[in-house]
Amino acid sequence: MALIVQKYGGSSVADAESIKRVAKRISEARKAGHDVVVVVSAMGDTTDELIDLARQITPIPPSREMDILLTAGERISMSLLAMAINNLGVKAKSFTGQQAGVITDAVHGKARIVDVVPGRIRETIEKGSVAIVAGFQGVTQSTNDVTTLGRGGSDTTAVALAAGLGADVCEIYTDVDGVFTADPRIVPSARKIDRITYEEMLEMAASGAKILALRCVEYARRYDVPVHVRSSFSGAPGTLVTNTPVAVVDAAAPNEEEVVMEAPIISGVAHDRSEAKITVVGVPDVPGTAARIFEVVAGAGANIDMIVQNISVASTGRTDISFTLPEEDGPIATTALNAVREAIGFESIQLDDQIGKLSLIGAGMKSHPGVSAKLFGALRDAGVNIEMISTSEIRISVVTREDNLDAAVRAVHTAFELDTEAEAVVYGGTGR
Ligand code: ASP
Ligand code: MG
Repeated sequence: MALIVQKYGGSSVADAESIKRVAKRISEARKAGHDVVVVVSAMGDTTDELIDLARQITPIPPSREMDILLTAGERISMSLLAMAINNLGVKAKSFTGQQAGVITDAVHGKARIVDVVPGRIRETIEKGSVAIVAGFQGVTQSTNDVTTLGRGGSDTTAVALAAGLGADVCEIYTDVDGVFTADPRIVPSARKIDRITYEEMLEMAASGAKILALRCVEYARRYDVPVHVRSSFSGAPGTLVTNTPVAVVDAAAPNEEEVVMEAPIISGVAHDRSEAKITVVGVPDVPGTAARIFEVVAGAGANIDMIVQNISVASTGRTDISFTLPEEDGPIATTALNAVREAIGFESIQLDDQIGKLSLIGAGMKSHPGVSAKLFGALRDAGVNIEMISTSEIRISVVTREDNLDAAVRAVHTAFELDTEAEAVVYGGTGR
């Protein structure tokens, strides 16, 4: 029998009824003979509500206290879930991230897992119990302080535990049937992807697809953990994220053979509303200016994404540089740049947070000509203006007006013939 790590997201454990439903699923996997470790998120929108609450107390809460506050959310769901499973006659015990041996660095609010020492978890499953672990949290070894892994971090906890325990599969249970060719909340005709490589999934996650946290996919790729993204509301097989074309154990359908599909050219269309664009206007076109601008931006702690520099106007010897960054880093980066305006010699800064980013992802685009032409044609036909473009080997991203983003996603999805007849089901969640 297999060792399975299952992760349930907030919408799957939103209330007492849901917790009981999930407990039933877990106990069935255990009764089928599997060793089961469960990672759980905070109930429903609890994390958002706790953040709102803290902001009512103070606009900038100390990050250490914020982490203690937020980890409470997962403690509530883990203990309730353990109770529900025990009620069904299956032994279960819950553990905080610290008790489960999730060791992180000291960066509050977005800590990285540096080690997993799951001794107590192993002991628990060896005794025949289900181990429930609070997602999204760990402990810093140097200070023993509690940390959180960044929003959506329970996915990362699950994959890290799966790697640390040598699990056969990490099942991520969510409120849709798997990874779709676009967000089904925007494109109801999106198609479920049966199988996707780590590289494609990384690009999807980095481009705004919220189905899996980026670090979770990085972790899965590094340790070669097969990840099965599926719905906790249905028994249907979901999306397998893996590079090896092997069958993977399925807790919901133990005897079914898995069919290996051929890789399509395009995997999907991702979108992101969370970025802003800064344009540095009238930058002297001399060696070293870009270095100084981006040193200042980095010094402000902002993570940049796309960069575009225009050719300089011959008569002025000046150029414009635009880049995108997370919306919340916009003001701090703008302030830092304005402070060095005279020293660097540029004219002005513009901050624009009304942008959207669309990304087309697919490993097949490396070897198929015409993908960009088709993408730009679809945007033209939809009347969408392109403000920036960037590419990787398996991705093309464009920046548009935020208002145009949904229409752009639908147009591109249709142009690449990704639509399907059946309407995708969104089982739960508020999409918050
Ligand atoms: N509860 C945390 C959040 O909402 C972690 C997670 O759900 O993965 O970000
Ligand atoms: Mg969540």
